[in-house]
Amino acid sequence: MIDTAQLPDATGHFGVYGGMFVPETLMPNFLELTAEYERAKVDPAFQAELSYYLRDYCGRPTPLYFAERLTEELGGAKIFLKREDLLHTGAHKINNALGQILLARRLGKKRIIAETGAGQHGVATATVCARFGFECVIYMGEVDMERQSLNVARMKFLGAKVVPVTAGQRTLKEAVNEALRDWVTNPRSTHYILGSALGAHPFPMIVRDFHRVIGEEAREQILEKESRLPDLLIACVGGGSNAIGLFWPFLRDESVKMLGIEAGGHGIIDGQHAARFQGGKLGVLQGTKTWLLADDDGQIQLTHSVSAGLDYAAVGPEHAFLREQGRIDYDYATDDEALDGFAKLSRWEGIIPALESAHAIAGVIKRAPQMRADELVIVNLSGRGDKDVAQAANFLLKD
Ligand SMILES: *Cc1c(COP(=O)(O)O)cnc(C)c1O
Repeated sequence: MIDTAQLPDATGHFGVYGGMFVPETLMPNFLELTAEYERAKVDPAFQAELSYYLRDYCGRPTPLYFAERLTEELGGAKIFLKREDLLHTGAHKINNALGQILLARRLGKKRIIAETGAGQHGVATATVCARFGFECVIYMGEVDMERQSLNVARMKFLGAKVVPVTAGQRTLKEAVNEALRDWVTNPRSTHYILGSALGAHPFPMIVRDFHRVIGEEAREQILEKESRLPDLLIACVGGGSNAIGLFWPFLRDESVKMLGIEAGGHGIIDGQHAARFQGGKLGVLQGTKTWLLADDDGQIQLTHSVSAGLDYAAVGPEHAFLREQGRIDYDYATDDEALDGFAKLSRWEGIIPALESAHAIAGVIKRAPQMRADELVIVNLSGRGDKDVAQAANFLLKD
């Protein structure tokens, strides 16, 4: 049995997945980042500063909340919500943005670039750039800028330059391409704060490590509340950062099952969803080898999800590996199921979730009723729904 918690290996691989598929001109940046991260990881001063800002600036630890009404309504397992929605800027993304800005400072960089889909990573990045005084450029697909105009305004207030990306589908994949193009042009001055557990090594490892605090806290909190480990963990999976952050500290606990929920969009029809493990295949996209949605010629397919943050053609390589190992199961929720989760959590718990997180809620709505009342589930509530209110209203408040 492979100890999955020891990966990636020195070449950035999780089994056959991952790796460093990067342009030659960027290789020095990836090697420099890897080396500096290895030093920072074992530097008590770095870890102390990270902990300080996570607590006093971002609001950690986030509560592990017993969702009593959701539990009663579903009539099965006891459900807890890990409240990442209560974090500064409204989603888990700030955990990683904060960690990486501290790394960028160690590297002596002056300028930050990032891609964003739903806008949450862009907001988190713009926030830490404001706080630490960095120049900030955010690349965002034109379609996403329309869907998430509130977050575009937030980034601008925070002093970031938001660059609309007009190529292709005008969403996240094209935004990543533009950010990489910028980095190739400005490799010395600039650090690229990648926003999910994706891309070339060392990003999947770094992003995961900065989100592990989610699972570490949840583990302590459930032991304190229930004196035992949970039976099931559920999280939505875009690139996979909030999910791996919750799951990772439990990987060695064999009794703890894990379920990732991908975006099923309009259903599993080519071009109508973003569920890479349903109808996807092995390939290389934007620096990493993983499961992705491509046609027979290897061309990346169009994707669709009601939530901009889950709408990406590739999944983080560690998820591909953990699925292959049989350690994590993956399912999907359609747009309609996610909207139903959004409505139910709002009505039953007084918590309006992000549409991404609503996919995880859809997952627990399906699973919890099949479980016993003495079983425990933790759902990662990755973000709050303010950014999605206008969009959800189009579907849910029509009459
Ligand atoms: C970005 C985002 C996601 C999806 O990204 P992961 O890397 O898969 O976590 C999920 N939920 C929220 C609230 C987000 O902002």
